[in-house]
Amino acid sequence: MTSEFSLSRRELLTGAAALAALPLLGAVLPGAAFAAAPQLGPMRSSVYRAKLGQFEVTTILDGAIQVDGPHPVYGQNQPAEAVKAFAEQNFLSSSKIENSFTPVIVNTGKEVVVFDSGNGAARRPYAGKLAIKLGEAGLKPEDVDVVVITHGHPDHIGGLMEDGKPLFPKARYVIGETEYNFWTHKDRLAGPTEAIAKLVQTNVVPLADKMTFIKPDAEVVPGIRAVNAFGHTPGMLAYHVESDGKRFLIMADVTNHYVMSLMKPDWHVRFDMDKDTATATRKRILDMLATDRLPVTGYHMPFPSIGFVEKTADAYRWVQASYQLHL
Ligand SMILES: [Zn+2]
Repeated sequence: MTSEFSLSRRELLTGAAALAALPLLGAVLPGAAFAAAPQLGPMRSSVYRAKLGQFEVTTILDGAIQVDGPHPVYGQNQPAEAVKAFAEQNFLSSSKIENSFTPVIVNTGKEVVVFDSGNGAARRPYAGKLAIKLGEAGLKPEDVDVVVITHGHPDHIGGLMEDGKPLFPKARYVIGETEYNFWTHKDRLAGPTEAIAKLVQTNVVPLADKMTFIKPDAEVVPGIRAVNAFGHTPGMLAYHVESDGKRFLIMADVTNHYVMSLMKPDWHVRFDMDKDTATATRKRILDMLATDRLPVTGYHMPFPSIGFVEKTADAYRWVQASYQLHL
């Protein structure tokens, strides 16, 4: 190293060898000023795929927004100070929360089934990325055979239309009958439900002739069946997926936060339309997940939004999946 360096110093005075030696000098002389690589800002992974029996499950991060919170978005029925302290105890900010959005795609080998469509154009650039990220996941919009709408909230139906046309041109659609009837009732077009009901009119109603309206326990395609998850909205459905004895739950918005919803399932959540039914549903489904030790994806769980639910002394705990679905 020493002799090489002294050779370089001599050759520095003349010709191309001097240029070739520059990177070496940069490494050797501390404090030498050379151009740094530009900083590119935060980056996080946004496409994930795992195997479930003969099926493949892909999760795609549609994006995330950050708002004030957690109180009163979470723990509306609790003192603000108690919610803030609980957030900090769990390594979370007591003044800001992030809400992320993760549509799920199940390829059964025969059909490609998309669960929820993300936010669409309304929340760009922060979210509404499903349409762009599909390509990263190796899919084209026309590959999608079935679109399942778990419930009618904007972050789930906003991406169904792109420039007034269906994002998935060849798909048929599935939605809970109770959910569709609730959002399309004329009374919803006024009062607190007005904005969402209008979005349902532009994004969901035009697809009605390609739509199947189902009840809990109905089968979407072989291996995928609806589960009653009423409460967050009047007719939200979760979906049970099974292939070759491997089971998985797509729980939509049964939980909205991986700490608050699991560790404090009784805390009221602003997004839950019927607080008591949503709480009862949350406990029933979390208990089933913990008892059966099922992997689960939740639309608002931290990406890749797949994990397990562990029962604790007085509630539940989210256990983020690692390699379990890759063995
Ligand atoms: Zn949601």
